[in-house]
Amino acid sequence: MEINISGLSKAFHLKDSQVQALNNVSLTTPANQILTLLGPSGCGKTTLLRCIAGLEVPDSGEIRIGDTTVFSSTNNAFVPPNKRGIGMVFQSYAIWPHMTVFDNVAYPLQVQKRPKKEIRERVRKTLSLVQLEGFEHRPATKLSGGQQQRVALARALIAEPKVVLFDEPLSNLDAKLREQTRRELRNFLSELGISAVYVTHDRIEALTISDVVAVMKDGQIIEMGKPKELYFGAKDKFVVDFIGGANFLEGEVVESAEGLVHVRSPMGTITCAEDTQLEAGTSVTVYIRPEAFEVLGDASERSCNVFRGTVERVLFAGESYESDIRVGDALLSVRLLPSVNVAEGEEIILHAAPSRCRILVDL
Ligand code: ADP
Ligand code: MG
Repeated sequence: MEINISGLSKAFHLKDSQVQALNNVSLTTPANQILTLLGPSGCGKTTLLRCIAGLEVPDSGEIRIGDTTVFSSTNNAFVPPNKRGIGMVFQSYAIWPHMTVFDNVAYPLQVQKRPKKEIRERVRKTLSLVQLEGFEHRPATKLSGGQQQRVALARALIAEPKVVLFDEPLSNLDAKLREQTRRELRNFLSELGISAVYVTHDRIEALTISDVVAVMKDGQIIEMGKPKELYFGAKDKFVVDFIGGANFLEGEVVESAEGLVHVRSPMGTITCAEDTQLEAGTSVTVYIRPEAFEVLGDASERSCNVFRGTVERVLFAGESYESDIRVGDALLSVRLLPSVNVAEGEEIILHAAPSRCRILVDL
């Protein structure tokens, strides 16, 4: 089920000020896939999710879920939350600890006063969907964190919603459990093929769990794409930085031809694989992620993007070395494999593939 959002705005009025939580947001979520809203705290993720759920009334704009207009400011449409066919999983009170797994999952149907037999049958079916069959009578507290999240998911799924909304569902788990649970959640959601909107401020969570990521800032969606497209090819500086960090180099286009743009920069001439035609002399910013570099034994191994530098600092970080390398007038953050042997003060030859040297554009 697709969700179409157009021109959505929402302000909160405080005593003597006003916060524009959503500023003219338009977005179409992909049907039967996981869309993540990623952005720093306060950028409007929860507000957008609550508008979709009907827990917040937008000031203007329109929201459609499938073929149904659930909100429209122009013709005063507002479908109440319980009529929107939505399931929700939140960060806090994900499940009720004093209840059994059965009672937790059955709750939405009990509220609807469904017949007992139907409830039993649907709880059984939903628990098997999240691979918790046989856990009905377990107290919720006697489950691992990952299993508890699956109970929360089962409770969100039991009324057979068209869309499931997640608001930072893993943020109460410790780091190791979070990693495991997000993998499980990803597997479940993609197997179920349901439409989900997932909110997080954690870039790794967004990259691993999503089919599509929409990056938000100040109540707006800045850029949207598949995780790999965004990681390797984001066009906006905030998005590049938020999703992984990079070296940003100001430069000037020397020449562009045949899918390559050559840019003069403080670290020398950088050849970027970009399909855009840019006139010589255009000011641009190039970005190269720290792990995009490799160390060459000999400069002649590559025909372009060969940079001679000096290692200023190296930190051993287990799976990599985090180093600062001086190349020309630039100081680069470079992530090196632990198998590469480098020491501070050493000369080093670096290479970055043109496909990993990207140009930012004004969006
Ligand atoms: P996020 O989920 O991305 O952290 P929110 O959607 O919760 O962001 O909040 C967006 C902005 O709206 C923030 O500045 C927040 O303080 C403000 N805000 C959210 N809810 C309310 C509210 N009920 N009353 C006043 N301000 C609010
Ligand atoms: Mg929030």
